[in-house]
This record gives sequence, C-alpha cells and structure tokens, in this order.
Amino acid sequence: MPIEGATIDVTFYGVRGSTPCHGPEVSRYGGNTSCVAVDVPGHDPIMFDLGTGSRYLGVERSTEGFHADCFVSHLHWDHIQGLPFFPPLLAPGNRLDLYAPRPERHESVADVIDTILCPPLFPVGVADLPGEVVFHDLGNDEVRIGDVTVTSRYIPHIGRTLGYRVDWNGISVAYLSDHQQPGVDVYDMCPGVEALCRDVDLLIHDAQYTRDEFIQRSTWGHCTIDYAIWTGKAAGAKQVALFHHDPMHDDRMLDQVASVCGRHCTPNVVVAREGLTIQLGA
Ligand SMILES: [Zn+2]
Ligand SMILES: [Zn+2]
Repeated sequence: MPIEGATIDVTFYGVRGSTPCHGPEVSRYGGNTSCVAVDVPGHDPIMFDLGTGSRYLGVERSTEGFHADCFVSHLHWDHIQGLPFFPPLLAPGNRLDLYAPRPERHESVADVIDTILCPPLFPVGVADLPGEVVFHDLGNDEVRIGDVTVTSRYIPHIGRTLGYRVDWNGISVAYLSDHQQPGVDVYDMCPGVEALCRDVDLLIHDAQYTRDEFIQRSTWGHCTIDYAIWTGKAAGAKQVALFHHDPMHDDRMLDQVASVCGRHCTPNVVVAREGLTIQLGA
C-alpha cells in the first residue's frame, strides 16, 4: 500500500568529477567530489559515493549509533577518497555498510581498500578505525533495505562501474555518476542503463564535458551534457540533475548551462550544486 503524501529528499554534498577543486570561481556549485544522500522516511541515510563531499555529510549527521548504507559507483579516487575522513567512522558503535562493484583484479572490495589505506599511504587501515565498515561486493543485483529496493547494473565507464536506482513507495531516483558515451554525437544506451533510468523521478547523471571537450577526451569514460539530457529524455525520466562537473567548469560556465537547460520541459533539467536538496514525490 503506497503511503499517501510521502516524499524522498535527495541532497548533494559533492558534485565534482575527477578531483576536488577550490576557489571563488567554483564556490557556488562547490568543489567536492561525488557524494549524494537519499533520505527515505523511516530509514537510515542511503548514500551514493564517498568523495570528499562525504566528510561534510558526516560532519552534519554524525550521531551516536550512526548507520548508513553507501552505494559506491566504482573505486576511482574521486568516489572513495572521503572514506578515511568520514567523521562517523571516528567513533565506536557507528557502522557504514559499503556496497561497490566486485573488482576484476582483486579478491574483494575490502581487499582493494586495504591496499590503499595502509602505511605508508595512510597511517592506519580501515579495520583500525573505531567505527565499523562492512563491505558488500555487488554486480547486477537487487538489494533490499527494509521496504527500499536498490538496483545495481553495470554501466560503461573505465573499469567495473555500477549505476544505481533506489525505489520506494512508487518514488525513484537513479544515479549514474560516470557514464561513457558511445562516441561523438552517438546517442544510444545499453540495457543496464535503460533498466536503471526507465521512468525515474530523478536521474543524477554524468555531465562532465561539452561537445568540444568530449571530442578531445572521447575515451575517458564520460559523456556530454547533451548526452545526459538525452538519456533522461529517452528513458522517460521526469527530472535530470547534471552531475560530476569537470573541475574546469566554473560557476559562470555552469550558470550558462543552467540557463540553457532550464528551458527544457521534459525532462526538467537542473545543474547539481552542493547543498541542493530535491524533494521527490511531493
Ligand atoms: Zn568520477
Ligand atoms: Zn571514474
């Protein structure tokens, strides 16, 4: 039975791709790398990615007995570099369930994290942190968290990468942070992407490049702003949040994108920025 009038809040804590950036020219959209919170009534926070934005999420929400389920798209730096600085992990009794794509050349996600969080690269390992991290290796899966369903599907990028979709009470949000466009001016999507994005209320999608930038970097694992909007439209998404902005895209440039994209009616397009909350199902 759907709950009448219930809503999901989606809040952006980090919207940048590749590497964090800082300065007055990026201060309004923000320079932290990928992290998004999905708040479903009656549930602990569901998170997408552990970029540097996750530190701010943790500062804001760290409480005694903190718990979150975090779905990591892939293990590139910009999606995990917030993990060792995630404030809830600095207190005992707190727990983070971390889901990520099963790696190709390592035994498990935990194994990969152990190879980068250890001396001399970092003072301690994950197991030495006071809070607990519980790792879950995913492929094409469905994860049930109470009455929430999280669907994961492999999507084209560089190395194993998952896109996610959260469904609850007839409300849905999809997260495809890093998505390789098939080619310059090529508009096509694989069945996994289609399954994640079909008729979704909000699609959070890679929008790293302009067409000219993509021509220079067409094999770097990303796509154009136009491709993000096309994916949303082709899949029947109601709203698209342009995400994973290139560090070279300053506030002025993103304002221009917002002003051009703001004219779209279907789907409605917004440019993700730190601190933005989008309420779904209202
Ligand atoms: Zn990325
Ligand atoms: Zn990546």
